[in-house]
Amino acid sequence: PQIAPEFSFKYSDLQVRLAAPYQLQPKPDASALGFGKYFTDHMMKVHYHKELGGWQKPEIVPFEYLTIHPAAKALHYAIQLFEGMKAYRGIDDKLRLFRPDLNMERMNLAAQRSGLPMFDGEELIGCITRLIQIDQEWVPHSETSTLYVRPTLIGTEPTFGVMEPDSALLFVIMSPVSAYYKTRSDGAVSIYADPSVVRAFPGGVGNRKVGSNYGPTIEVTARAAKLGHQQVLWLFGPDKELTEVGAMNIFVVYINEHGDKQLSTPPLNGLILPGVTRRSILELASQWEDITVKEEVITMDRLIDLNNQGRLLEMFGAGTAVVVTPISNVGYVGENIHIPTMKQSQPLFQRLKDTLLAIQYGHIDHPFSRII
Ligand code: PMP
Repeated sequence: PQIAPEFSFKYSDLQVRLAAPYQLQPKPDASALGFGKYFTDHMMKVHYHKELGGWQKPEIVPFEYLTIHPAAKALHYAIQLFEGMKAYRGIDDKLRLFRPDLNMERMNLAAQRSGLPMFDGEELIGCITRLIQIDQEWVPHSETSTLYVRPTLIGTEPTFGVMEPDSALLFVIMSPVSAYYKTRSDGAVSIYADPSVVRAFPGGVGNRKVGSNYGPTIEVTARAAKLGHQQVLWLFGPDKELTEVGAMNIFVVYINEHGDKQLSTPPLNGLILPGVTRRSILELASQWEDITVKEEVITMDRLIDLNNQGRLLEMFGAGTAVVVTPISNVGYVGENIHIPTMKQSQPLFQRLKDTLLAIQYGHIDHPFSRII
């Protein structure tokens, strides 16, 4: 969606109030980071008030609690959205963002669907860049951890009507993080597919990063964990199409009808979040001559057939939090389907992961990385 500049807040209006020395938090040990347990010393906020003409001036302030009316629409109807991106400290000590323009585009699409105000993505990138620069010592000096950046937009209007809120708050908080998922001893994850639950449906919001997609996944994820699986494989429809895995896009690698090695992922049919990592993997791999790349529907029957014929080579999930996570087992209607992902001598998942990390940490110069 396009938004006219006069309707956006502006980076040039950004006001900064720095934390006093006594407000600065100690930085945790890399081993204790977890995912989103610790927060940096500052945050960014910008209010939207329709009766005041829309977006107000953005500000960076010491990290603080929000004061929110208990009737705020975000708290009742999940009129809310969020993003997830990372700042990486490269080998040259420079800080980089990975394709932040795509996160901004996705944020605006979610805002549009939820009746939340849109904005110019480049203006928010400017504000986020400044926030990261202020808290730059929170970007880990390591290639196994990063600074996770969480822009969030909530409807704050305190009335019960289910309608477009006339006030909103966009805020950005940041957290140093280490690897997201636990794995099995083979370094891969086991996933659980239960055909009786769906994450998204046609015409819904599976393709938008709104909080209401995530709350309802907790119960089945906990059930999967009890059965020894790290993530849920989300299926859809009578043919049990593979859609996503946990909060990742799904990929399979197999030998196709022509005897070629093919990388496949489901098409963006509305059920699937348009992942930045997904898109980057498709763009990178389509440059590699030894790989055929295809967006296609993959059903459970097809997956099982390919595996039984020995043609299925790899299965993996991809997303900002995890980069690329190999999958070695699928629990499905009481059975375990073993996937030979970790048995390949030169797995594609590893090549993709290494390439993405090399771009993110500045080992190779690439237009996907934006130095800040
Ligand atoms: N699917 C879902 C449901 C997600 O929440 C995420 C994380 N944003 C992804 C896929 C991966 O998207 P990205 O590569 O942009 O992080």
